Amino acid sequence: MNKEYDIAVLGGGLAGLSVLYHLIKAGKLEGKKALLVDPEGRKSAHDRTWSFWETEPGPFEAQVFHRWHEVTVHDRDRDLNCKLHPYVYKLIRSSEFYAHVNMVIDDSGAVTRIEQVASDVEGHSDKVTFRVGEEAYQVNHAFSSIPLHLRPRQIKEPYLDQHFRGWYVKTEEEIFDPGVAALMDFRTPQENETRFLYVLPFSKTEAVVEIAIFSNVHLKMEEYDRLIGNYIKEHWTVQPYTIEHYENGNIPMTTYPFPRWDGNLIYIGLRGGAARPSTGYTFYGLQRQLVELADSFPATPPKPWRNRDIMYDATILRILQDNRLPGDQVFTDLFQRNPTPRLLSFLNGESTVGQELALMSTTNIAQFGRSFVSEIFN
Ligand SMILES: Cc1cc2nc3c(=O)[nH]c(=O)nc-3n(C[C@H](O)[C@H](O)[C@H](O)COP(=O)(O)OP(=O)(O)OC[C@H]3O[C@@H](n4cnc5c(N)ncnc54)[C@H](O)[C@@H]3O)c2cc1C
Repeated sequence: MNKEYDIAVLGGGLAGLSVLYHLIKAGKLEGKKALLVDPEGRKSAHDRTWSFWETEPGPFEAQVFHRWHEVTVHDRDRDLNCKLHPYVYKLIRSSEFYAHVNMVIDDSGAVTRIEQVASDVEGHSDKVTFRVGEEAYQVNHAFSSIPLHLRPRQIKEPYLDQHFRGWYVKTEEEIFDPGVAALMDFRTPQENETRFLYVLPFSKTEAVVEIAIFSNVHLKMEEYDRLIGNYIKEHWTVQPYTIEHYENGNIPMTTYPFPRWDGNLIYIGLRGGAARPSTGYTFYGLQRQLVELADSFPATPPKPWRNRDIMYDATILRILQDNRLPGDQVFTDLFQRNPTPRLLSFLNGESTVGQELALMSTTNIAQFGRSFVSEIFN
């Protein structure tokens, strides 16, 4: 049994790298030896684009690639312009994030990397054991973001996948306003699901145009591409453009109670329930949680979301999953009937009860009220 390391981080994606980064910044790795295990090794690619909103500079402010102070929301009948102040919508590309965080991790001199899969991970009250290949390890504490694959039919909580595909486009015409992002544009056939596009422009000729679908039935890649192509032609340009980069993925949206720890094994990232169930946004809430976790480590890790956020989200997700109300209407109504900062603070899990009551009063109260009560007893 290898007992050389104090701490292990199993999974070196967003959550694993972030927890190491924050532990280092909090001085919690001084005099300690940590092991980072990920079969994909030292990440460097632009394989994700993380967008989020916040009011203050965040821990990765220098890595922010672009910022927007205004967004738009559209459905077939409405075009809304929403000023974000005091929030700013920000985008970080994984390539810059990985480069910076990996540099800090390497400079700490405390972390050894293994490019393999971890298995047989077991938490105990005073240690964590796991295997990497033939070797068995024992550490005092471990953080795992090894994905948990849930089957929607096997859980009682609402569950929707958010599957998406994005194009980084460069146009010939100057069609974009780099100061304004289209946050949710529902002007695409909804097919009894919640489908929207978002457009995040970096210059007058460059933007990421992405389609996101909340449903448990995924499309063939050509179909996402057809929908994005049609949308650009209908709403942005019929002139030629090039696609410089693609992005696709899936974020499980569920209020399933992901276990937060098992003895000294702490679950983080999507595995620890860090994705906001009603939106899939993860980056901001995860950093907030991991900063707090690192500061108080090894005390009990904080929750990614408050209990009442989970109840609101169970309500919204159930309404969407059972098609009790059309998703385009639910979200466009929320933006139209609320000051944008109220909605953004709610979605970040930093709203007051007063703000939440005000927001709930702008929804279809009969439907939201009934669904909320039935989720309490679910
Ligand atoms: C393309 C994409 C875009 C996204 N955009 C946004 C966004 O704009 N805003 C936002 O807030 N959220 C976004 N998300 C959601 C969320 O922020 C990301 O999914 C984020 O990467 C989740 O972090 P994680 O560490 O849980 O998972 P990951 O970053 O996927 O890391 C998990 C790691 O575990 C490793 N692993 C797997 N099995 C093992 C094993 N057995 N042993 C060891 N390691 C293992 C994997 O190799 C991987 O590196 C996006 C997600 C995707 C996929």
